[in-house]
Amino acid sequence: KLSVENLHINFGQKEVLKNINVSFAEHQVTALIGPSGCGKSTLLRSLNRMHDLSPDAKIMGKLRIDGTDIYGKDIPPTKIRQRIGMVFQKANPFAKSVYDNITYGLKINNLPHTKDVVEKALREAFLWEEVKNDLKMPATRLSGGQQQRLCIARTVALRPEVILMDEPCSALDPISTLKIEELITDLKDRYTIVIVTHNMQQAQRVADKTIFMYLGEVKEEGSTQQLFNNPKHELTANYISGHF
Ligand code: ATP
Ligand code: MG
Repeated sequence: KLSVENLHINFGQKEVLKNINVSFAEHQVTALIGPSGCGKSTLLRSLNRMHDLSPDAKIMGKLRIDGTDIYGKDIPPTKIRQRIGMVFQKANPFAKSVYDNITYGLKINNLPHTKDVVEKALREAFLWEEVKNDLKMPATRLSGGQQQRLCIARTVALRPEVILMDEPCSALDPISTLKIEELITDLKDRYTIVIVTHNMQQAQRVADKTIFMYLGEVKEEGSTQQLFNNPKHELTANYISGHF
């Protein structure tokens, strides 16, 4: 179980997240929505300790995965990032073959990296059939949607507990988007998934729970159905109906 308690994040003088208290249920998809600049990516990145990489970030609060302090000094960031994987808006495969994209992180994490493991990860990301005859091909030659599925395969290969996705479809065409949505729905049996999206239809198609953020705060959260059909807050109602 992944949880955030009293989280505040400042960049210099600027308070970007204010007293965030949320938890993410296992084997569910949670969508983070809200206007540009409200702090969605900042919250998502805090969950896999990415703010260690920005020295001007000041973080207060407790983030935990199964009781383990995500920012604990005794646990290396690489271990956190193996347990909590991240998929970005723009697919960013390594400049390596399709095959090596999967084995690279496995080797770094001292995990088995046999052909079977590679095949399993590619199957899990709905990509195997399309690449099985071209595993030595440079990953950059894949289509955008295939590259994004490769990035998901690379993440699931590490056997994480949580997969974070920051607008994973916003650079993709509608067909590739639907394919990723199907994939997300399939993965949630095995992983806890948090997805940032600007696409309200997408949130309703994939998410069990939705969190609406505004100016660095959580304004409303609830089951996706409740939040979209019966929002409690006027700001939520305005945002989801596009009147913003
Ligand atoms: P979008 O929907 O446009 O992606 P977002 O909700 O993901 O927006 P964030 O990227 O989390 O928003 O940014 C929230 C605020 O934090 C913004 O005002 C942004 O300028 C600021 N911010 C983010 N990262 C940094 C940083 N490293 N240094 C200073 N300010 C930052
Ligand atoms: Mg963002």
